[in-house]
Amino acid sequence: MNARWWSSATLTGEGIYYAMRSGELLAESLLETSPESYAARVREEFGRDLTLGARLAPFFYRSDFFGQAVTTRTIQIARRSATFAQLLEDLIEGSQGYVGLVARFCRGLAVTLAETAQSFIREAFSTPLSART
Ligand SMILES: Cc1cc2nc3c(=O)[nH]c(=O)nc-3n(C[C@H](O)[C@H](O)[C@H](O)COP(=O)(O)OP(=O)(O)OC[C@H]3O[C@@H](n4cnc5c(N)ncnc54)[C@H](O)[C@@H]3O)c2cc1C
Repeated sequence: MNARWWSSATLTGEGIYYAMRSGELLAESLLETSPESYAARVREEFGRDLTLGARLAPFFYRSDFFGQAVTTRTIQIARRSATFAQLLEDLIEGSQGYVGLVARFCRGLAVTLAETAQSFIREAFSTPLSART
């Protein structure tokens, strides 16, 4: 297990935090003269989150949602829903881990759909009739 594997287990590909934090965990293990405890420390700190990230990654990068790649749909929805954009921002910034991500998405789903629909309606009414196809 190394930080390169961890970065491939995240949706955003980030791995610098894991590389640096795992260095600290190794130093702590060595200072306590128990290098064998390193793997357990790493599993305890990142294991659950990154295992979930690794499970979500194929869905995120290799699946379709209503005829478009999930990545494309993600950007489209984030442009129309502030709630969804905030979720995405927190995920990229690191304050939202993979644990709890799906639950938060489900909790915000009704608002996300409402904001998306509202955005479409606003757009439709702000487009002059002559410009509509
Ligand atoms: C294009 C790109 C963009 C990225 N952007 C981000 C980002 O924005 N944010 C983020 O958090 N992460 C990002 N990452 C991921 C991040 O760079 C890695 O997750 C992180 O650097 C992994 O750290 P590491 O110390 O495990 O490995 P590395 O940084 O790969 O360090 C391993 C080092 O070991 C050396 N090495 C390998 N084999 C040997 C050997 N046999 N003998 C001696 N030396 C050896 C290598 O030369 C290398 O210097 C990005 C990665 C890439 C490729």
